[in-house]
Amino acid sequence: MPNYVVGHKIPDSDSICSAIALSYLKTTLGEETVPARLGKLSPETLFILDKFGFEQPQLKTSYAGESLYIVDHSDRVLAPDDVDEATILGIIDHHKLGDLTTSTPLECWIRPVGCTNTIIKMMFDFHNVDIPKNIAGAMMCAILSDTVIFKSPTCTTADIKCVEALAEIAGIDDPKELGMDMFRVKSAVEGTPIRDLVLRDFKDFNMNGNLVGIGQLEVIDLTVFDEMKADLEADIAKLKVEGDRHTVILLLTDIMKEGSEMLVVSDNADLTKKAYGKATIDGKVWLDGVLSRKKQIVPPLQEFFA
Ligand code: MG
Ligand code: MG
Ligand code: MG
Repeated sequence: MPNYVVGHKIPDSDSICSAIALSYLKTTLGEETVPARLGKLSPETLFILDKFGFEQPQLKTSYAGESLYIVDHSDRVLAPDDVDEATILGIIDHHKLGDLTTSTPLECWIRPVGCTNTIIKMMFDFHNVDIPKNIAGAMMCAILSDTVIFKSPTCTTADIKCVEALAEIAGIDDPKELGMDMFRVKSAVEGTPIRDLVLRDFKDFNMNGNLVGIGQLEVIDLTVFDEMKADLEADIAKLKVEGDRHTVILLLTDIMKEGSEMLVVSDNADLTKKAYGKATIDGKVWLDGVLSRKKQIVPPLQEFFA
């Protein structure tokens, strides 16, 4: 029985590329390991897999009785539903420490960097294993995605150096231009069902007993949402009721203007005023300089709910 590597629910490019890269590393080190995913892939991730010639990792949602590595999260709510019945061999992540626990010692690589793939590159270096060209390309793209081409406040010198090193291995001359190609794919939202967009990069958080859902769409020009904004607002209101959530937020992030419009439905009308110092008007508020859910949206909200 192989071991698995799996990222979070509603997988993003980091979760998928981490699973592919770590499986290769572990297998090379003599431990048969396969990448898996908990859900449907986004157009951006499909673009990366296609570009570097990878198949989609297998869709596998149940892990009872099996052994796995958890990548790109450590929160129970984002993990496989039956993770308690599995053996967690390791956690490789770059988010706040979540609430997953283990009954046996585990390998743990958690670093405050911009992307899980930056940490996996450190693991390759630690074990002195060469990274194949196509895996380097996929890892590089994941870092460009998570750091919003180095613009996110989560981006560190380690991420930038890592992209440089991976680009060299992958033979990519202009990583930033490839990053822009990815964000152009992400920006092609027209014709996509509204619910698909709301859930494209959506995470639930348990904040002091309150369920808070936060989605994010990162594009190169917010005007792509002009025609559909009212539908997006109506849909997050529905999602709030369906999931019995306290709050649902959808961040429409403009990566060129470097800020986000936040659409909010909440049981607390003063939520954004209290958490971010700015009240909503008609359920919307522009937050200048806000690009990162993890670093700029979640921490003030957790304080609000504390
Ligand atoms: Mg992720
Ligand atoms: Mg990540
Ligand atoms: Mg992201």
